[in-house]
Amino acid sequence: MITKSDIIKAAYAHGFEDVGFTTADPFPEHKQLLLDRREAYEWAESVGLELLSGTDPKTILPNAKTIIVLMEVYFRKSYPRSIEGHFGRCYLDDDRVTRDGLSRRIKAFRSFLRDNGVDSKVPFNLPHRVAAARAGMGTFGKNCLFYSNKVARGGSWILPIAVVIDEAFEPCVPTMEIGCPDWCRNTCIAACPTGALMGNSRIDPRKCISYLTYFGEGITPLELREPMGMFVYGCDRCQNVCPRNQPWLANQLPINEKVAAKAGYFELSRLLHMDREYFETHIWPHMFYMSFKDIWRWKMNVARVMGNSRDKKYIADLVRAFKENPDERVRAMAVWAIGHIGGPEALTALKELMDETSDLVKEEIRRAKEICL
Ligand code: SF4
Ligand code: SF4
Repeated sequence: MITKSDIIKAAYAHGFEDVGFTTADPFPEHKQLLLDRREAYEWAESVGLELLSGTDPKTILPNAKTIIVLMEVYFRKSYPRSIEGHFGRCYLDDDRVTRDGLSRRIKAFRSFLRDNGVDSKVPFNLPHRVAAARAGMGTFGKNCLFYSNKVARGGSWILPIAVVIDEAFEPCVPTMEIGCPDWCRNTCIAACPTGALMGNSRIDPRKCISYLTYFGEGITPLELREPMGMFVYGCDRCQNVCPRNQPWLANQLPINEKVAAKAGYFELSRLLHMDREYFETHIWPHMFYMSFKDIWRWKMNVARVMGNSRDKKYIADLVRAFKENPDERVRAMAVWAIGHIGGPEALTALKELMDETSDLVKEEIRRAKEICL
């Protein structure tokens, strides 16, 4: 019979940095939160995330007895600034499609369990952070993120992985509280540019830049374009400003060579003009929340970021994107971006784009020209 100590040793041997145990009891408070805030989370059910059923581990493994939580630090190495400035760090080395990193270690850990007669599942829809808190591995921040009590110098650059198993083990003592110091005056809430954070660890996911960049419908509303700043996909702002993360951010980390090797593919101009083959070969395997049918959203996000860069070098790219994209959301955002960069070159470029038929784009051209005049 395998012991708890054997499992802990195996978790460390497979490269995880902390491990905790909790029962496979349901998560009734989390279920109630999802029900009380159904309108804020109904998008998740509509894209198949099934968060409600994830609150009962027995829907995932009928004979579930324990949840083992493995802790991964996803920011152990640094990322090139050219990519880190535009993409949330947690997405940069996500191998759920390529299966060439963390996925292999999870698989090997589960093989160890299976070889010892323990059945396991790694559900995507279980509340992993809540499971980690119930396993006593850290506390919540008011930014809704989870902060380790052992790794990443107490920071939130961590990924708790909940492994549901069919054997009972003594659970750890839960730490279900918010662990923010009294002296922090809600820095994350003040810093959130889209007002997504509501205080006391509550968020409106529909206002979060992460959601807006990969699930947002239609053209990004005018009032959000500037606040969404330089992020193409995801957002790290409430983590970057948090005092609980400063010890880790002050660290001199070695470069993540794997991410550095693909950084060129994520260069803004290449993303703006990418075709299906480029997207499916170089982008989708690493950032897969949007399929090719949503490539317009990728391009719209990139055009917005180019506008927010205020860098004149992008005007030619934006004009080209306008001419080569039939999608009015991309065309309209390209126009907004040219206007936002501003100046005589931008005005000249906008004058070239007069023969537009779409009302949405015509209105963007009119507004952009006003800004440049
Ligand atoms: S990730 Fe960005 S947009 Fe989302 S809550 Fe944090 S600061 Fe706000
Ligand atoms: S910024 Fe302050 S309030 Fe927000 S999570 Fe960090 S410590 Fe907590």
